Amino acid sequence: DSSSASAKSEAEGENKTAEEDDNDDKAAQSLLNKLIRNNLVNTTNQVEVLQKDPNSPLYSVKSFEELRLKPQLLQGVYGMGFNRPSKIQETALPMMLAEPPQNLIAQSQSGTGKTAAFVLAMLSHVDPMNRYPQCLCVSPTYELALQTGKVIEQMGKHYPEVQLVYAIRGNKLQRGMKLQEQIVIGTPGTMLDWCGKFKFIDPKKIRVFVLDEADVMIATQGHQDQSIRIQRMLPKNCQMLLFSATFEESVWNFAKRIVPDPNIIKLKREEETLDTIKQYYVLCNSREEKFQALCNIYGAITIAQAMIFCHTRKTAGWLAGELSREGHQVALLSGEMQVEQRAAVIERFRDGKEKVLVTTNVCARGIDVEQVSVVINFDLPIDKDGNPDNETYLHRIGRTGRFGKRGLAINMVDSRMSMNILNRIQQHFNKKIEKLDTDDLDEIE
Ligand code: ADP
Repeated sequence: DSSSASAKSEAEGENKTAEEDDNDDKAAQSLLNKLIRNNLVNTTNQVEVLQKDPNSPLYSVKSFEELRLKPQLLQGVYGMGFNRPSKIQETALPMMLAEPPQNLIAQSQSGTGKTAAFVLAMLSHVDPMNRYPQCLCVSPTYELALQTGKVIEQMGKHYPEVQLVYAIRGNKLQRGMKLQEQIVIGTPGTMLDWCGKFKFIDPKKIRVFVLDEADVMIATQGHQDQSIRIQRMLPKNCQMLLFSATFEESVWNFAKRIVPDPNIIKLKREEETLDTIKQYYVLCNSREEKFQALCNIYGAITIAQAMIFCHTRKTAGWLAGELSREGHQVALLSGEMQVEQRAAVIERFRDGKEKVLVTTNVCARGIDVEQVSVVINFDLPIDKDGNPDNETYLHRIGRTGRFGKRGLAINMVDSRMSMNILNRIQQHFNKKIEKLDTDDLDEIE
């Protein structure tokens, strides 16, 4: 369907291939999640652990004291406001800090404490007296590497002897020099050059190798290969650690090549459900009618905070303008904005500085704004073939069963095609989406 194809390219930017877009998108999403998250994701699920040696006892800790960290590091951890290990840290930390060091593959959604865990492992394993690189950490992009670097700096705040350097393009070193920093963090290409071609790093002296965001990593051409080539230069007894938010077959295959004899920890995502959501649809004939319906809804019920999803940048921009004219404080999230700008918009919205967030489908994929009470699909979510995007629908309005407050979702329908999409979504979830008459709104509150 050409209209949805052009809508998609409009929403995503014109000059890139779909694949490049997708990769950028993954890295950008991951960065966005880091920028807006300042605490742990709640989980009630238990971790699944597969030990390399199933007969060895499985340790898990409920406090950081039990880990017998260096005092400087314990101070760093508490300084960051951490009181106790997160779910995944409870088992991952004792494994990573064990003697002899254990290899680990760990998977859990973003915000569950993976970065903090491997940063603590790296900081624990370096010997600050030795003035050469001992830990390597590879990340998919410069920006993501920088975020991890910040965590290293925070956690190592009271351990100034340990130093950090970024192996990223643009960071040019003099030929023949040897790095003195104990931790090197960077992107695979530069890291490989620094270990191989330029010999700034002696790979044989590396004790910990971390590969972060494996799922984002393998989406970029060449990263997989470069990472494997780095890994091959490292000594046999080097600790290998790999982290990923998702775990499809391709990630798993890559992980097994990076991490020999791994222990494996997985933490399932909290299930999303529509059970605590009231779902409605509104029938309209045009986008102006949809806007009018929206105004009626706003006139009738008190909406603390709403998120409104549109299919294209153009619609999102238009709608944000119309809503502002009506006197609403509107935040607009759009694809052409830099990740940092997007993060700033989301943060303002989360802080309640704006009450309405208008965004494109593409732009909002994968981000969580938990406390929104009303979600409005100004356009229904569809995939690139024009079929209903059930997963996005669920992610957008679904709540995790345990923590979810009741929510309200309103879908705008303006054509036979969108009615068809709505019906298919309804069937898919086997949950009724009720018709709402916006001239008579007594029923919804
Ligand atoms: P991930 O790497 O899985 O995305 P992070 O390590 O970045 O997760 O942690 C997510 C957020 O939670 C960060 O803001 C981090 O500072 C915080 N955090 C991590 N571990 C803990 C902990 N044990 N207690 C409290 N907050 C934590």
